[in-house]
Amino acid sequence: MQEGQRYCRKCLLREMDEAEYFKNMYDYIARLPHEDKVSDEEYERRLSICKGCDYLLQGMCRLCGCYVEMRAVMKVRGCPDIPDRWKA
Ligand code: SF4
Repeated sequence: MQEGQRYCRKCLLREMDEAEYFKNMYDYIARLPHEDKVSDEEYERRLSICKGCDYLLQGMCRLCGCYVEMRAVMKVRGCPDIPDRWKA
């Protein structure tokens, strides 16, 4: 998002086009405080595990309902499977 550009904070997914939704998600990830995020290496490690997981469906984890790129970036989030496939 360009500086000074406004965006809707109250839109439902069905009210956004797909490209705009994903842009918002990546903007959100980029704005997270650095200390809340895992390292790039850990992020890629987590995502590579998700990519090999049967619960991944169109970018979303079918166990927790999260977009895995959003979940995997957070230090405090772990894989919801039992046993977990990657830890918080
Ligand atoms: S978060 Fe865990 S259960 Fe969900 S897709 Fe990733 S590896 Fe699979």
